[in-house]
Amino acid sequence: MIATDHELDAEAGRLFRLLMHVDCEPGRPWNYETCRRLAPLTLEIARLKREQGAIILAHSYVEPEIIYGVADFKGDSYFLSLKAREARAAKIVFAGVVFMAETAKILSPHAQVVVPDRGSGCSLADSLTGAQLRELRAAYPDAAVVCYINSTAEVKAESDVCVTSGNVHDIVAQLPQRRILFVPDRLMGQNIRVELQRRGIAKEIITSDGTCIVHDVFDARAVADARARFPGLRVVAHPECTAEVAAAADYVGSTGGMMKYVRATSAPYFLMLTECGLVGRLQVEDPEKRFIGGCRLCPYMKLNSLEKVRDALAAPRPDQIITLDEDLRRRAARSIERMFELAPRD
Ligand code: SF4
Repeated sequence: MIATDHELDAEAGRLFRLLMHVDCEPGRPWNYETCRRLAPLTLEIARLKREQGAIILAHSYVEPEIIYGVADFKGDSYFLSLKAREARAAKIVFAGVVFMAETAKILSPHAQVVVPDRGSGCSLADSLTGAQLRELRAAYPDAAVVCYINSTAEVKAESDVCVTSGNVHDIVAQLPQRRILFVPDRLMGQNIRVELQRRGIAKEIITSDGTCIVHDVFDARAVADARARFPGLRVVAHPECTAEVAAAADYVGSTGGMMKYVRATSAPYFLMLTECGLVGRLQVEDPEKRFIGGCRLCPYMKLNSLEKVRDALAAPRPDQIITLDEDLRRRAARSIERMFELAPRD
């Protein structure tokens, strides 16, 4: 069914009111014409969703026209994994990266879960295979195996419990083992050591060697320079950054935690040491806040597009459909369900 001019104008207006505070390209804010050009596509995706009983989950790092144009739920991987578990949808389109779509499939096995682009990997998740984790586990037989949610289904299946950056400290503190094998993020492992020490919790943290290519390059010296140039600046960092950067920040936390901190904090400027998509969300949802730049783009997240979302909904190719061996899926689900049991309630 072809949308009328009136429907297209209304959709373009809706998009523009949301996106006007965000840059469409660096230094070029969204304008009404761009929104009008996208309106046929967002309306077509809305129609396909209705026809197919589908929902779209969008990570905060994907392009804003996906987040605000077509997503049913937006947020970090933990929030989206909860939504995937609650969903009764026949089909889930996961605009994010492949390990997140795998998590949705683990928790919603009866849904067809599709990704817009199968190439949307993750330097962190892809740094460790299930076979490599089995070897590590054999080398540390007394350790509890704790995997960050940014890991493949194979790695989750080999782990005792899955965690997020928001609940890792509380969960690790409850585990009876003194020795913890934390995978796959070496830098987050360093930050966990520091935080557990601060809380007086005695654990030995062993890690594998993965890092996030977006967060591992932020530099503590640049933080000092920015503070000198912008008096009153608040620096917000993700725990995938180095321990030096985390120590130089005013707040370190998950994607959801960073958003809450900025919303609750009065400061003339913020420096967000994370992916730029999160800054875009804050610009849309809290346009009074001022950001000084310095964020970075995740090339995997940016492989998502409205056209690919539409194609994955309309007629997914086999490579866009997430399939998991049932035994592996059940084992991976156990580590995620254990997280839900141990995670503090909000
Ligand atoms: S931002 Fe980092 S952890 Fe997130 S998907 Fe990109 S590479 Fe992976």
